[in-house]
Amino acid sequence: MSAQLLGAHMPIGKGLGHAVRNGHKIGCTTVQVFTNNPRQWAAKPIKEETVEDLAAAMQETGIDQVISHDTYLVNLCAPNPETQAKSIAALKEELCRCSQLGIPFAVSHMGAHMKLGEEVGLKIVAEKAKEVLADTPDDVTLLMETTAGQGSSLNWQFDHIAAILDQTGAPERLCVCLDTRHIYAAGYDISTEDGYTKTFDDFERLVGIDRIKVIHCNDSKKECGSRVDRHDHIGEGLMGITPFQMLVNDKRFEQTPIILETPSADDMHEVNLNKLKSLRKD
Ligand SMILES: [Zn+2]
Ligand SMILES: [Zn+2]
Repeated sequence: MSAQLLGAHMPIGKGLGHAVRNGHKIGCTTVQVFTNNPRQWAAKPIKEETVEDLAAAMQETGIDQVISHDTYLVNLCAPNPETQAKSIAALKEELCRCSQLGIPFAVSHMGAHMKLGEEVGLKIVAEKAKEVLADTPDDVTLLMETTAGQGSSLNWQFDHIAAILDQTGAPERLCVCLDTRHIYAAGYDISTEDGYTKTFDDFERLVGIDRIKVIHCNDSKKECGSRVDRHDHIGEGLMGITPFQMLVNDKRFEQTPIILETPSADDMHEVNLNKLKSLRKD
């Protein structure tokens, strides 16, 4: 069977429940949200009515796979101790909020080494990820997102993810969110059938496909290997339609939430979603 869980990152301006209902309206069977302002450290506590409204929205729509994306500010290996402490606290709070809201997955970019070097950065991220998991409810899985490698971001190579898993003892609650545009920008050319196959073979060998719990589905305005992160609509960027066609028909991802993070949510999410659906063969 082709991919069953197709959705989008939905704006939460009118509340989390509204984001899920709105997603359902445009045809999503899974939805990603922010549980907090992604560019702010401070988070308001979640109100009981928000928990209830989200639960009701999930019940009404049948969308039971809601995913959260962590704030962009988090850097577990920030050389500045204050920023690092804030990052650890914010990520713990994120996982606690998810548990309270019944959200099973929290996606995070984890960190950027900022001149510490990749090896040192990865070691610190692994150490702090362990601490975050130890101090948070076990019904939430932390997903390390593959990045474009912009600046000194870690996790742009599958080796990085493998190293963090290795150094943490690969706990069940530490998994992966693979972003199509990020890996393309990072140099994994999935734009051809052979490239797609080779990339996922590499991932299987280094990390294991079963660690991929969510896929971000975006086209890229920038070329493969550019390490620059610019979203584009499905089939309109430089990646072409092949990787998306392969993705939605890849049996390994039949039950994996596939989330659009393409621009212009209000008028384009539905268009991109319909495009993905049209690529499914069964
Ligand atoms: Zn992200
Ligand atoms: Zn992403």
